[in-house]
Amino acid sequence: MDVVVRDRRLRWPIAAHFEAAIRGQIVRSVDRRAKYILIGFDAGTMILHLGMSGSLRLVKRDIPPQAHDHWDIGVDSGWVLRFHDPRRFGSLHWTETDPTLHPLLAKLAPEPLSEAFDGEYLYRATRKRNVAVKQLIMNSQLVVGVGNIYASEALFRARVSPRRAARRLTRKEAAALAQAIKDVLGQAIDIGGTTLRDYVNADGAPGYFRQKLFVYERAGARCRVCKSSIKQFVQGQRSTYWCSTCQR
Ligand SMILES: [Zn+2]
Repeated sequence: MDVVVRDRRLRWPIAAHFEAAIRGQIVRSVDRRAKYILIGFDAGTMILHLGMSGSLRLVKRDIPPQAHDHWDIGVDSGWVLRFHDPRRFGSLHWTETDPTLHPLLAKLAPEPLSEAFDGEYLYRATRKRNVAVKQLIMNSQLVVGVGNIYASEALFRARVSPRRAARRLTRKEAAALAQAIKDVLGQAIDIGGTTLRDYVNADGAPGYFRQKLFVYERAGARCRVCKSSIKQFVQGQRSTYWCSTCQR
């Protein structure tokens, strides 16, 4: 594998030895942990983050780099994987030890679609927590990757009010909520993501999950279940949407 780094100044500088370490290596695995992309080689692992504005695209090798195309790695004779990031909040780390022990990854909470995240985990994690349940499930120290849309939608499906103090979730509600989070994320992945602003999926197409939403950005519209009016309020600086009839 060949590699070209045009600008090392990402969120953290790209290590000086990166090119020598990766040259001639073959990709063995591609994984994800929270928002980090892990590309595994025999010699080590690239840990990538797209930051605010980064993107990875496979492009023909002979297409000249544009402004903000910070690095390429060759993936076969005709193509390169090219990283583009105008704001340079993205990052590239190289590690030659277990990437899950890297300081960026070691303390991350469980993935919502993993077995480690279930009703019992959620129930235990919410004990003694006075914070509203919606804010807690969006806290990446509890579970990673549950953003505002998915938190609102999962709470609707579990019939739990976003205002409820986390410690007052019953065991049964915690199980329903953990399952609802998995269902909402799984469905959004199947459909291809939720279109917001400039989001496109890996094929460059918009996501369509928006059409399946029950509450998010539906303030004033009728609840799809009970026909009441969907309500909105601000919680932790984020808009929350809910049905006060369906959710208690
Ligand atoms: Zn309702």
